[in-house]
Amino acid sequence: MTQGARSTFTGPSDLHLHSNHSDGTEAPAEVMRQAHAHGIRTLALTDHDRTTGWDEAAGAAADLGMTFLPGIELSAKHEWRSVHVLGYLFDPADPALVAETDRIRLDRVGRAERIVRNISRDYDLGWPDVLAQTLADATVGRPHIADALVARGIVRDRTEAFAGILHPSAGYYEPHYAPDPLTAVRLITRAGGVAIIAHPASSGRDRMMPTPYIERLIAEGLGGFEIDHRENTQDGKRMLRGIAADHDLIVTGSSDYHGAGKPNRPGENTTSDEMVARIIDRATGTPPHRP
Ligand code: AMP
Ligand code: ZN
Ligand code: FE
Ligand code: FE
Repeated sequence: MTQGARSTFTGPSDLHLHSNHSDGTEAPAEVMRQAHAHGIRTLALTDHDRTTGWDEAAGAAADLGMTFLPGIELSAKHEWRSVHVLGYLFDPADPALVAETDRIRLDRVGRAERIVRNISRDYDLGWPDVLAQTLADATVGRPHIADALVARGIVRDRTEAFAGILHPSAGYYEPHYAPDPLTAVRLITRAGGVAIIAHPASSGRDRMMPTPYIERLIAEGLGGFEIDHRENTQDGKRMLRGIAADHDLIVTGSSDYHGAGKPNRPGENTTSDEMVARIIDRATGTPPHRP
């Protein structure tokens, strides 16, 4: 992009949605159709730890006359905190990023098998039940185990599964490998992408990454925060807006749509045209797909 030629385009924009290439319940093209039906005109597909949904989503975006930003939600971990880092417009063939996402996804499979083995001590659930709920090659997560529990009639829906059997306090939980947030931000940034911390205050401001660590992420190239997200607490949002203003960061708002797997609806939070333009102008890895 030539300097000064600021990107222009038209929202409303929703920059965080999942398909069945991870733990959403719909194919990428259906996610695009659902978002379009909810009035969204610019969308990013951000499946956990994989990019295989991009091509189908880009095709559907072209059919629907939408702008499509290829993205990802990279799993990371800071001490005991699970941290999700959204990446936009990076090079999907970047060797370091590919190696890391391969490693995370592989470890997620063994980890899901361990969780199922733990659950099977008390409930009639086996690994084939989970495989039956998972698209071949999708990024496996607890939502797929939740779907298997639903299919077995053990719980009513994902929400009940996460509140009970899949909650760490239930005793069946196992962690999976994930890089630290500094590594995650570096990987996305070096692949030409823009890194945005997803729902940073979803556990409240007291359980957020400490501000000095966030400042290290900013120094490493962090682009900004996803602030308007249903799981961020009000005081967490206030604190994030303060840090974002101090460092002139990008701030986004998104639905985190998972199809039928969560109550989140496309467009329930949106990102301003100005912020989408800043993401597009900052990225060098992959151009957005325009109508
Ligand atoms: P995992 O990464 O395997 O530990 O699973 C976490 C994922 O499950 C998150 O990315 C969420 O999208 C999803 N999730 C978390 N809580 C819920 C819930 N209550 N209902 C449905 N999905 C959830
Ligand atoms: Zn998810
Ligand atoms: Fe997340
Ligand atoms: Fe998400």
